[in-house]
Amino acid sequence: PTAMREVYLEPPKVRWTDIGGQDEVKQSLREAVEWPLKHPEIMAELGITGTKGLLLYGPPGCSKTLTAQALATEAGLNFIAVKGAEILNMYVGESERAVREVFRKARAASPSVIFFDEIDAIGSAREGGQSNGVNVLTTLLNEMDGIEMLRGVIILAATNKPEILDPALMRPGRLDTILYVGPPDQLARKDILRIKMNKMKISEDIDIGELAERMEGHSGAEIVSICDKAGHGAMKDSLRDGKIRPITKLHFESALEKVDRQITPT
Ligand code: ATP
Repeated sequence: PTAMREVYLEPPKVRWTDIGGQDEVKQSLREAVEWPLKHPEIMAELGITGTKGLLLYGPPGCSKTLTAQALATEAGLNFIAVKGAEILNMYVGESERAVREVFRKARAASPSVIFFDEIDAIGSAREGGQSNGVNVLTTLLNEMDGIEMLRGVIILAATNKPEILDPALMRPGRLDTILYVGPPDQLARKDILRIKMNKMKISEDIDIGELAERMEGHSGAEIVSICDKAGHGAMKDSLRDGKIRPITKLHFESALEKVDRQITPT
């Protein structure tokens, strides 16, 4: 099935330090995942069970996918990623089978994390939408209910449209921890710039704080894109001059003009 193309068992090597800002999201995920794995006896003594599912919501390009990957890397979990739309766009019966297969793989690969990107494609299915949607959602809910706590499978789901999700998905014992992954603030934008510029040849006339301020309202993905476009300018100059030119403030000036703010009204 097509969705299986998206399945990786090798966790992508993203670290927490590769993600600018989002400190609260990082901390919540650490607690949700590391506590049950590392301190099951304390939790048992307290008589509490951890969460088995978390929902990340927020605008596009603000690090939901990066966060899922970093969680897998940092906690040493196998990573199984699947896109809601790919699951739904299968033949009748195939979608349900694909969902069960994802959970089977996750159990076999435990400790593991299942990352459902675009969960709204499946999770809003009960209202209108595609005809096989109801069955797929029911299968998903059943599979979630089947994972025993502390058996080492954690579910992470992401969406840009939390308001259209079926509330059944967020019941206790399912995606019951809900985390907002928002646009980066000034500190986070500086952080993202620093992380990205670490790998770039940057001229000394660049003031990261000032650049970050000018990037207010941009998503993390847009910030990275501006840096890449600035780099492209320096590449052109380097080819023209026959020697390597660093990326300057001027390159950033023109790059800033080329990237629109898609997540905030202008
Ligand atoms: P979508 O909702 O469109 O799937 P997303 O929230 O999952 O978006 P990501 O795929 O995690 O966003 O981010 C896209 C890219 O943007 C990343 O690969 C990274 O290059 C950059 N990026 C976004 N946010 C950050 C951040 N906080 N720190 C560093 N890079 C970031």
